[in-house]
Amino acid sequence: MAEKTERELRADIVEVCSKIYNNGWVAANDGNVSVMIDDNHAICTPTGISKGRITTDMLIKVDMDGNMTEGEKELKPSSEIKMHLDILKNKPGVTSVVHAHPPYSTAYAVAGIPLDQCILPEIVISLGHIPLTKYGTPSTFEIPDSVREHLKDNFVFLLENHGALSTGENVFQAYYRMESMELFAKINAIAQSLGNVNTISEGNVKKLLKLRTQWGMDTENFSGCRIGDRLMNYSDIKNGTGSENNNKNRVADYNLLQDNDKITLTRKELQDIIESTVKSILKEISR
Ligand SMILES: [Zn+2]
Repeated sequence: MAEKTERELRADIVEVCSKIYNNGWVAANDGNVSVMIDDNHAICTPTGISKGRITTDMLIKVDMDGNMTEGEKELKPSSEIKMHLDILKNKPGVTSVVHAHPPYSTAYAVAGIPLDQCILPEIVISLGHIPLTKYGTPSTFEIPDSVREHLKDNFVFLLENHGALSTGENVFQAYYRMESMELFAKINAIAQSLGNVNTISEGNVKKLLKLRTQWGMDTENFSGCRIGDRLMNYSDIKNGTGSENNNKNRVADYNLLQDNDKITLTRKELQDIIESTVKSILKEISR
């Protein structure tokens, strides 16, 4: 697809701003959106204007240090521009950042609870887990500094006692990731109120991670998710780990390996694999 013109990108930002406003993710002038238009410039929403009222000509062009290079004189760039630019400069592949206060996600950010458990398959595959970043004073470097700790492996973030932050290859991906986070937070909260939140089993989380690989999604920079305290990520598929280092699971792990993956087995483990294979063949024959 051909690269979009600046005019089209401005229209995309306005469309996303109105979705954010109509979803009830912001009150008054809350929230901000940015998109990189070339290596040295981004367009962002102005401060002090409701996302429901923004038009393309109100958007402001800034350089990567946050200096305004184009825009109406009476308008100023978003007060959170430092946070946006820090992410745009430091997260490869990301050209857009969306910040809002969607109520369920923000409630988790206020409760101090990260959305980090392996609960819904789509979320395990698309987002891994959603970390809670340390509280920072809005408009200062405190927020970007806290986000930076999680930036490499995550796409969306809960800002402690503040709201939600999402990144994407374009403004729609950043928006839809926030939509996924908010629905996940809502489902989580409802399940919690019903009295129980089950996590997906280890074996099934591994299958989901394997699917990500098959679908060509990035495996290097991906957070994974937790079952209780235990973080499940690609190292579990590649190496196997202590808690599951029994032979039964090793056989199950074997089925998750890629064709070119190298593995090491003890004599006993090899013997178990052969035995279980022979047994299943014999069982098949005797039917
Ligand atoms: Zn905010």
